[in-house]
Amino acid sequence: MSVVTRYPTRPLEFWGRMKELRRNLNRRAWETRERGGVVVATQNPPYPLLAGLGEWARRLYGPYFTVAMRNPEILLQYHEAADAHGYPRGEMCSSMHHYMGELLLGLTTMNPSNGESSPVDVVVEVEFCNSVAKTAQIAGEVLGVPHFVLDVPQEGGEAAIKYVAARLHEAVDFLTKATGKEYHDELLVEAVKNWWEQGVIIAKICMANQAVPAPLDFRMLQEMRVPSIVGGHLPEVLAYFEDVLAEINDRVHDGISATGVETARLVYEGEPMFYAENFIPDLCQRYGAVILGGFTGFSRGVWDISPEGRWAPAPRFKDTGAVLKNRDDTMEFLARCYVNNRPLYHCAKLGEKSGEYLHRAVDWKCQGSILHLDVGCRNQAAGMLEAAQVLEAHDIATVAYESSNGDARYFSPHQVTDRLEPFLERLGLRPLED
Ligand code: SF4
Repeated sequence: MSVVTRYPTRPLEFWGRMKELRRNLNRRAWETRERGGVVVATQNPPYPLLAGLGEWARRLYGPYFTVAMRNPEILLQYHEAADAHGYPRGEMCSSMHHYMGELLLGLTTMNPSNGESSPVDVVVEVEFCNSVAKTAQIAGEVLGVPHFVLDVPQEGGEAAIKYVAARLHEAVDFLTKATGKEYHDELLVEAVKNWWEQGVIIAKICMANQAVPAPLDFRMLQEMRVPSIVGGHLPEVLAYFEDVLAEINDRVHDGISATGVETARLVYEGEPMFYAENFIPDLCQRYGAVILGGFTGFSRGVWDISPEGRWAPAPRFKDTGAVLKNRDDTMEFLARCYVNNRPLYHCAKLGEKSGEYLHRAVDWKCQGSILHLDVGCRNQAAGMLEAAQVLEAHDIATVAYESSNGDARYFSPHQVTDRLEPFLERLGLRPLED
């Protein structure tokens, strides 16, 4: 094998802070009710909208997601609970299917620190796929609380923006009635600005990964963005991302690599296998290849998306020209962001997919693309094989493997290895120890 270039590495300074933020925000989710705040059961809440209620916290339907994904026996128990209650696997998102298990076993409202009951007030969800919307509806029924789903059309331009803005106003009516709380527009405005800003910074961090060597790999990116998922509207989360961006820019300036070797650059499309998150990155790393992003890794950013599917960070708030004087302005701005700037809500938009996959591979200087044909996520799997043809026609090597993001019963390590190894060899790579 030819001589492999080695790059310097350096521990990530943000790691400890990310963990501390995640711990604190998760703890707050179990203490909010005692402090008079509103507890919202949800997967993907409308963060800035809920901020208008004052103190609120996000409670996952499945609070033991990470525990389950690290422990196959527990994960299986949750899936089997959902199966037994008449929600057969394969008919919904596999992560949501696992959530259903936790929900039906009563874990959504059981405080993990003392085992006591800790109720939620409402279910509020932003729909980016039908599985999420359906789970919210069932969660409302099981928990016995009112639910609201903010549906964001995958396309539709100005009409879609108008529709979402109207639904945001309806959501405020719903929230004030369901919780008995007053709604504070000044808190909404502040949270919308924070949420926009942290998303733009996340996009800039993802862009920094275009550098050779890449300063972050896929796993680092996934972990880096966790505070955005836990509380993306909060000033402390915005401050965290400002510091992460500065650190990543320093790494790029100093030529620091995520893994120390970069025999090939790869992009990963689709959800990871959350219960085996290291399997594919480790396999690629044995060949010196680095996975440096993809739809999931980048989709928490706030982007400008061109009609050809090219992503660039949206402008900082002060450069958008927006003036948020009142609730109407703010809801319109937020609706525009949901419809235009958040790729999460385009995951089933097939017309964009081939161009988006191609630009991502080309712009991030990748030689190959790994595609997860996920039985648990038909939205992201749809259009993938068509996109693969476009990638191959532009000399980007592709490999598609079949598994599931949240249900290990669909995962065959041998089968995935048998798909990935020839792909890596096709890129001219050999295991580094050879
Ligand atoms: S993984 Fe796919 S099906 Fe599941 S919630 Fe996400 S988009 Fe929906």
